[in-house]
Parts: sequence; C-alpha cells; structure tokens
Amino acid sequence: MKRIYSAQHSPEAYYVKGLLEEQGIACEIRGESLSAAQGGVPITTETAPTVWIRDGEQYQTARAIIADYERLQRRPVSSGPTWVCPACGETCEAQFGQCWNCLAPRDDG
Ligand SMILES: [Zn+2]
Repeated sequence: MKRIYSAQHSPEAYYVKGLLEEQGIACEIRGESLSAAQGGVPITTETAPTVWIRDGEQYQTARAIIADYERLQRRPVSSGPTWVCPACGETCEAQFGQCWNCLAPRDDG
C-alpha cells in the first residue's frame, strides 16, 4: 500500500479513487471513518481522507493521473463560473458535474 493523495473531504477522495480505478489502478480510501467518528471536528491533514494504491509499482502512473487532476483544480475558471448546488446550497467548481458535498447533479437550467 502506498499513499497517493490527501483529499480535502470525502467526496474528493472518492472522485480521485474513481479516476484511478478508471485507469485500472486498485485503491482504497483511509481515514474517512475516523473523521466521521469525530463528527463536527474540522478536517485537518490528520483527519482528511487519504487515497492509497495497492500496487506500489503503479505509483508513477497514479501520480500522473493525480497531477492532471490537480492541474485541472488550479486552472483559472475558464470553463464557466462556480455554481451553487440546488440541493444543499454549497458552491461548486465549474468543472464538476455534481455537487462535491451532497453529490446532487448540477442544474444547468
Ligand atoms: Zn449539494
């Protein structure tokens, strides 16, 4: 097992896990239950969920996928303005098709 990414919150961890699994990289999320059990405690680097890959030999491939993801995160907002989730009211980045908080689909109407 090798830690590949520290997410800011659970939905992001699951998003990264999905990206890796699409490329055939087996991975799992750790630390999530810990932060849930501590309910109400602000997420820090110690309680934030982390993504781990099972096969260390895939580390370079996984890093490349995550580098692409991080580049997308840092990219100036060119694909559109942020949007507000119709379900929970959280502000979401333009490139996401669903809410990071409650996973409700984006309402483009
Ligand atoms: Zn939402």
